[in-house]
Amino acid sequence: MSSAKRPRTCRNFAAESDLFDVLPDDLLIHLLCRLASSASSPSDLLNLLLTCKRLNRLVLHPLVLSKAGPKAFAVRMEKWCDSAHRFLKRCADAGNSEASYTLGMIRFYCLTNRGSGASLMAKAAIKSHAPALYSLAVIQFNGSGGSKSDKDLQAGVALCARAAFLGHVDALRELGHCLQDGYGVRRNSDEGRRLLIQANARELAAVLLSSSRVRQQRHHQFGNLPDLTATRCSLLSDFGCDFPATEPHPVNLFLREWFESERGVAGRVGLRLCSHGGCGRPETRPHEFRRCSICGTVNYCSRGCQSQDWKIRHKEECTAVQRWQDAEVDNAGGVMFNAVEEVEDANVVGTV
Ligand SMILES: [Zn+2]
Ligand SMILES: [Zn+2]
Repeated sequence: MSSAKRPRTCRNFAAESDLFDVLPDDLLIHLLCRLASSASSPSDLLNLLLTCKRLNRLVLHPLVLSKAGPKAFAVRMEKWCDSAHRFLKRCADAGNSEASYTLGMIRFYCLTNRGSGASLMAKAAIKSHAPALYSLAVIQFNGSGGSKSDKDLQAGVALCARAAFLGHVDALRELGHCLQDGYGVRRNSDEGRRLLIQANARELAAVLLSSSRVRQQRHHQFGNLPDLTATRCSLLSDFGCDFPATEPHPVNLFLREWFESERGVAGRVGLRLCSHGGCGRPETRPHEFRRCSICGTVNYCSRGCQSQDWKIRHKEECTAVQRWQDAEVDNAGGVMFNAVEEVEDANVVGTV
């Protein structure tokens, strides 16, 4: 028998290792930057960190950390620990806006470190990070982390406008509602309506793009089998379209997991979560969020969330009857339904 395949010896293994060792740091850093920006989960970077000492050193190079993409920071609530916190901080210090935004949201809402959370979000917002601009707008609209008098509607509208200009659809929708209602800005119904139609058009474009990607991926994996697990994007069902809903930002899923866990529930006694499933923001003081004026059973951090949840879910279940039934039960117990809850603002059910 010929020895076409030579046995792997210590000697030729050492020779192969040497090939890696002679690659210059600059080239490896360039490759690692590409890998970090396209990471599909935090474990992609974690595995590289654990591979060998050299890769560990190079992955922690500020240039590589500054390029890591959003999915590299998609940490799950049950995996949250000091080292995850330190890693995010290190990436934020390296100038990564996505890390600044993610850590800012976690510090502001979950760790109730409002000052440092808001300043991290501001750091990302200065670099035109649209979700950070929008989140700061939500904080300004609600006066989150402060009292009712800390609301700054004009600042909220300005931040929303900047985020909308950068293509953030929720910000565009929020701005449309502000213009329609004269909330923090002079009322202009036509312009508000135009922005709401534009938000739907942008959303349609984004959903079409992502659904064609999903279809290609599914065709590759399962052939022509129907996808029974896909969720509808009901916002577009008004126009006769039926597409999978767009993915929320990973930090919104983290927030929701956090506040639905035992630790989160204990930390927000008397405070409610935004009822839109893709949001995860909690109140920072009692009765901060507006509630649905028809049924009074759901609460929203923003008009954008209210509008989306209405189309996706709530219009199917919202009914004043439920409220009357609850009021009857409360009255029987001697407590008036409306007397229990003080609402900061008049609420309007979104319809676009
Ligand atoms: Zn919300
Ligand atoms: Zn309702």
